[in-house]
Amino acid sequence: MNNNRTRGISGLTLLFGIVLIAIIYWFVGNPGSQEAPYTYRDFQNGVKEDQITRVEIRQNRVAPTGTIRVQDKKDELHELHVSDVNEIQDFLDSYDVEFEVADVPQDSWVVTTLLPTLLMVGAVLFVVAMMNRQGGANAKAMNFGKSRARMSTELDNKVTFAQVAGLKEEKEELEEIVDFLKAPGKYTQVGARIPKGVLLEGPPGTGKTLLAKAVAGEAGVPFFTISGSDFVEMFVGVGASRVRDLFEDAKGNAPCIVFIDEIDAVARRRGTGMGGGHDEREQTLNQLLVEMDGFGVNEGIIVMAATNRVDILDPAILRPGRFDRKVMVGRPDVQGRLEILQVHAKGKPLGDDVDLEQTARTTAGFTGADLENLLNEAAILAAKEGRVYLQQSDIRHAFIKVGIGAEKKSRVISDKEKKITAFHEAGHAILFHVLPDVGPVYSVSIIPTGVGAAGYTMPLPEKDEMFNTKGRMLQDITVALGGRAAEEMVFDDITTGASQDIRQATAYAKSMVTKFGMSEQLGLVNYDNDSDEVFIGRDWGHTSRGYGEKVASTIDMEVKRIIDECYVEAKRMIEERRDVLDRCAELLLQKEKITREEFEALF
Ligand code: ADP
Ligand code: MG
Ligand code: ZN
Repeated sequence: MNNNRTRGISGLTLLFGIVLIAIIYWFVGNPGSQEAPYTYRDFQNGVKEDQITRVEIRQNRVAPTGTIRVQDKKDELHELHVSDVNEIQDFLDSYDVEFEVADVPQDSWVVTTLLPTLLMVGAVLFVVAMMNRQGGANAKAMNFGKSRARMSTELDNKVTFAQVAGLKEEKEELEEIVDFLKAPGKYTQVGARIPKGVLLEGPPGTGKTLLAKAVAGEAGVPFFTISGSDFVEMFVGVGASRVRDLFEDAKGNAPCIVFIDEIDAVARRRGTGMGGGHDEREQTLNQLLVEMDGFGVNEGIIVMAATNRVDILDPAILRPGRFDRKVMVGRPDVQGRLEILQVHAKGKPLGDDVDLEQTARTTAGFTGADLENLLNEAAILAAKEGRVYLQQSDIRHAFIKVGIGAEKKSRVISDKEKKITAFHEAGHAILFHVLPDVGPVYSVSIIPTGVGAAGYTMPLPEKDEMFNTKGRMLQDITVALGGRAAEEMVFDDITTGASQDIRQATAYAKSMVTKFGMSEQLGLVNYDNDSDEVFIGRDWGHTSRGYGEKVASTIDMEVKRIIDECYVEAKRMIEERRDVLDRCAELLLQKEKITREEFEALF
């Protein structure tokens, strides 16, 4: 694309130059017309005084006008325009001066025909080129509403699943989509409804775009890609018409994939826009929803979208029949990172001492894009030193360079930190598993999440329950404190890493006491005047506290009692399973992310 543009510009410059030269040539006229002033009178005198040796008369075709060329005795040549050549002939005859009559020399056809034609053609080309430049590269300037989607088919560099390293589960989930696009008949035959939309969600650089391309590549179908920000334009209505146009194109090419990258730019929660709502975006989003509802279930168009902010998406977009499939694309674990490194090491000769496994181990929290960047920087360093292969030292130096950038997004973590995190998460996980009303654990991970958490323990999605019980709330608090309890048990010191847990536990305990009447000390009185906002309300609602100092201190005491009791309980339960804790932490350190099965096998 860049190449195209530069070529376009140099072509234009050339054209412009030609036109300019032609114009100059035109204006300056034929060279040779610049003569010393030689008047008719000079000529007459010359003839009378017999100074003229030769005269050539050139008559124009129609009128008697013409030019004469006069050669005098000093061998100087003069040219004169005359109004009547016949008069000149008579005049010369009377003085007996030799003369020749000739045709007016025709201007060469280059000047008379070719040049003006060229000029015209040049001008036309110039205008066309100008129009193209505005339109061609950045969609069609004359046609705002046209979709900017770029279609790519198998012909241009096809991406396959083989190029997407790691992301095993994600690829498995998408396998089905590929299969459908390849053989839709197989599914429609048995009346299966294929998802219309697949939403890829994950931090930037984890390979969402790559994955979407790979689905198209695997299935061998056209791939229409457009970025959410392309929809958001200055003019109201443009986005909506782009959406319409995009789906029009897609329908003509089904089966195919429509990929909307960074969909959050357009599908942000409606009605919450800053500055009185973004009309344009809402219209665009509405149009997108209309289109997605509009095409039939099995028409063979699958809309894929990527975002790293699923929380700000409009809920309407996640309804069944739209993006009903969600695929989480997470940061890679050790194994994933190794595979990504191997993919990007292709074409980069590695020295004997390069240990990609070790590199994978030390790059926790790096995304695919970070790793690609790491190897690229290493290759640049090698090239700078004139080597044709990479050394481990190149990777080490690149790591420092890339790591600083990556640190802003995730965090490069030390072994010690990793170990603490492993025990911390193992503590949570064990309690999730052991306590009856919470859990089970879906996955445990110590891959930094990039939003400040060093790891996470994810329970299965909660069942829909009308209300919480006191027992369950206490268990939630216990689980939240499990991380800190495990840390304290294993290391002499404790870390600041549990602040989020402590905050959550406190919030639970506080609402038990002030909202749900679960404390005997305070009874069935609502002391919660913070209108549900436990977190921020505490700071804002202080002045209008509806109770006295004594009650306030009782609340504090009760909250503390609940937390203390839960903490003791958490510690006891983990201590009883110290061997599980150790093995779980060890497994986490080794794999960084473990599944439910792997975790449960520890018991
Ligand atoms: P996202 O769309 O999630 O922000 P991209 O798909 O644009 O991320 O990834 C950016 C680049 O990072 C890719 O072009 C690729 O070089 C590299 N990359 C990311 N994830 C992977 C992966 N799983 N395997 C191989 N390369 C990857
Ligand atoms: Mg992307
Ligand atoms: Zn925790």
